[in-house]
Amino acid sequence: MKKKTSDITVFISLRESTCSECGENLGSKAWVVLEKDKRALCLACADLDHLVFLPSGDAALTRRAKKYSNLSAVVIKWSRARKRYERQGLLVEPEGLERAEKECLADSESRKRNRERAAIRRKELDREYVKTFADKIREMYPNCPTGREKQIAEHACLKYSNRIGRTAQAKEFSKEAVQLAVIAHIRHAETNYDELLMQGFDRFEARSQVKGKVMSTLYEWEGAFTAEVAESAVGNEEERKKIPIDEC
Ligand SMILES: [Zn+2]
Repeated sequence: MKKKTSDITVFISLRESTCSECGENLGSKAWVVLEKDKRALCLACADLDHLVFLPSGDAALTRRAKKYSNLSAVVIKWSRARKRYERQGLLVEPEGLERAEKECLADSESRKRNRERAAIRRKELDREYVKTFADKIREMYPNCPTGREKQIAEHACLKYSNRIGRTAQAKEFSKEAVQLAVIAHIRHAETNYDELLMQGFDRFEARSQVKGKVMSTLYEWEGAFTAEVAESAVGNEEERKKIPIDEC
């Protein structure tokens, strides 16, 4: 059931836009994905917000960064002067970019760029928030692999830091908010979800394909079941009710 491979496109919007899924007002110059019916989605709702931007200009670096990223998207903007869309760069996985830089750039230059990115990231992270969120993840999912709780919490922190409307809700660390963050991480890190998006499946098709794997992993991390039992529990109505269905 392989679909035609076409690049995922992110538009830098010129108008004020609102995300049709989370309802957030994205302002003008927002980075959005357009759905089939032309409604805008923010990068978080489009499941692209873990990617980093690589501006156009270095063809070799761009080619390699794309090659080493399971998921990538082309970023374009409408040029009023030239009356056409112009490519601004590529959204790629941070690990893919790092690997590409290592190959393309002299080591010292690559290390310098890495340090710069890490410094920007540190500046944006609210340490206390990350620690509290990570502790909560560890508490709810004791079998989550070591270090993942920090990775998930940092992502949630970056995501919410730019989102005034969501900050209060996220800071309460409700069980649901933690579960949603963990589910999103599992989809990217433990299933072929990103690959399916690249193949042209829409989010809903892709989510339904990986749902079983997402749920069995979630149960495993919860420590309630072994992986085998979790696998069989996926078909169980009672167990399924525990998971917010739209998010799987
Ligand atoms: Zn959204």
